[in-house]
Amino acid sequence: MNRNISTFIGCDAEYRDAKTVIFGAPFDSTTSYRPGTRFASRAIRNESYGIETFSPYQDKALEDYKIFDGGELDLCFGNPARVLDEIEDFTLKLLKDDKLPVMIGGEHLVTLGGVRAVRQKHHGLHIIHFDAHADVRNDYMGETLSHATVIRRCWELLGDGKIYQFGIRSGEKSEFEWAKGHTYLQKFNFLGLEQAVEALKGKPVYLTIDLDVLDPSVFPGTGTPEAGGVSFTELLNAIIKVSELNIVGCDMNELSPPYDQSGSSTAAACKLLRELLLAISA
Ligand code: MN
Ligand code: MN
Repeated sequence: MNRNISTFIGCDAEYRDAKTVIFGAPFDSTTSYRPGTRFASRAIRNESYGIETFSPYQDKALEDYKIFDGGELDLCFGNPARVLDEIEDFTLKLLKDDKLPVMIGGEHLVTLGGVRAVRQKHHGLHIIHFDAHADVRNDYMGETLSHATVIRRCWELLGDGKIYQFGIRSGEKSEFEWAKGHTYLQKFNFLGLEQAVEALKGKPVYLTIDLDVLDPSVFPGTGTPEAGGVSFTELLNAIIKVSELNIVGCDMNELSPPYDQSGSSTAAACKLLRELLLAISA
């Protein structure tokens, strides 16, 4: 008889044995356009039973690795600052136990909690950021804590030249101007990723994947769909490339199940999470 627990497929190791820990951060109260990402981590967990644990891309299977599913954080709504503290505290706990944290959003703001925790353990932290949106506004409608400002807040912690952004195709003119002096920003695609990986060899890296980097034809189930995105295979190859680095924390965010009428966006997210877990698990 097994315990009656539900985990992401193939992630049923015990906590003490696990190297990698996934957990959901179901928070979406600053989402600017269409909310719903709070339902993503549960949907990904439920729908993961529709995919295989084996990856023909990487010739590896989830059951060959020790991955623990920590379930959902119990986050309060309407108070982003407190939510970020809670994410930071939980991530710190994982890091103290020498686990590799993999957070499932939620809206993109949740990344800030993860980065705050990881930088306490890893000095000289860098970020690799895949997104349709630059997310470097100083504030969004007066709010400094927003999914549209999250990378700017991370920059305040890490400084110039530490953040590498790819796939960006939306933002205010001032965001693109600002980025020129402070981050490495690649518009539209993953050109330059290989050079970035070469430059970051040996350094601690936090990987944040806003799934709206994908084209809406592949991934319509998101709050701010942005035409002209990358393909599934391009994103998959980029994740595998980045996994050559010393990844010390990562997240995947912005799936919004209420906008995923066909279920195919959730299925794509499940598959990408499997590939991410396999890529970063040694
Ligand atoms: Mn984003
Ligand atoms: Mn985005």
